[in-house]
Amino acid sequence: MKLLVTGGAGFIGSNFIHYILGEHRDWQIIILDKLTYAGNLRNLEGLEQKRCHFVRGDIADPELVKRLVSEGVDIIVNFAAESHVDRSIDNADPFIESNIKGVQVLLEAVRHNGVKKFIQVSTDEVYGSLGLTGSFDENSPLAPNSPYSASKAAADLLCRAYFKTYQLPVIVTRCVNNYGPAQYPEKLIPVIINNAMNDKPVPIYGDGLNVREWIYVMDYCRALREVILAGRIGEVYNIGSGRELNNLELAKEILTYLEKPHSLIQFVKDRPGHDRRYAIDNGKICRELGWRPAYDFTAALHDTIEWYLSHSSWFESWNAASKKSLTS
Ligand code: NAD
Repeated sequence: MKLLVTGGAGFIGSNFIHYILGEHRDWQIIILDKLTYAGNLRNLEGLEQKRCHFVRGDIADPELVKRLVSEGVDIIVNFAAESHVDRSIDNADPFIESNIKGVQVLLEAVRHNGVKKFIQVSTDEVYGSLGLTGSFDENSPLAPNSPYSASKAAADLLCRAYFKTYQLPVIVTRCVNNYGPAQYPEKLIPVIINNAMNDKPVPIYGDGLNVREWIYVMDYCRALREVILAGRIGEVYNIGSGRELNNLELAKEILTYLEKPHSLIQFVKDRPGHDRRYAIDNGKICRELGWRPAYDFTAALHDTIEWYLSHSSWFESWNAASKKSLTS
């Protein structure tokens, strides 16, 4: 089996590549990644060279994508995206280009080549915000609230349209917030760990009561494997863990583990359009594909913190870059 994995130098994509090559000793992967600020070749260290081929490039480049897809690719898993909500609020342009145009370019390449499955890695954020109770299932209306989630929702709809119009073998996965090793240090969990390790204030938006559902990245990789092997074409699968926490609880959990005072928490001005709560119903993937989350939240969070503690150089380049941008 030959996979094209886009965005493979990022957080989830790189964890997925390490996992899937370990599970399937005869699978091969072409990795296509633009190496934006969020892509890091260090995430791909240790991979078996003869089963991986890295290409630096843009999913929105039709000629490049066409060439790669025509090299006998069976499955495409599209992780490539601009992924940070705050950056989308500052400037949505790259989100439109990569998250929408890029997906259309990939879909066109699937249309003209014999790809067996195209998996679009989407997000629960396309459903918008929930009140204190309830959860979104795959039939919930799309109601994105940030330029990031709107760009992901647009891509989901393009996937739907290409399935309905051209019967393309498309599957969309909508997953909750991931945590684990190698997440870019602008995201909540690495920010909390990094700042706490350096005794710096831990910024928390608004009142800290925004709720997110958290899944360990390896559980998501396991779910994606099931989708590759047995997911039904034209379907959407929600993927979640059922573990909800508000941002304040999460920060306290991490500070406690690191033996740092909770007084490091500093409330900052809320993000515009900040969704209050996300939660999804993962019944469909559990029933149809027999997948269940396998990792205990607290144990996996502690493993994640330990990973960052033992990879402090991971943060060093980030800290140096932020200092440089502050002084320039
Ligand atoms: P990330 O920002 O860590 O990695 C994104 C990767 O895509 C980077 O390596 C980057 O260089 C690459 N990339 C960006 N634009 C590209 C382009 N035009 N062409 C080729 N490569 C490009 O993101 P992540 O957290 O690993 O998320 C991966 C995917 O999962 C995204 O599509 C995101 O929307 C989705 N998702 C993430 C989460 C989460 O909690 N992190 C949750 C649900 C869904």
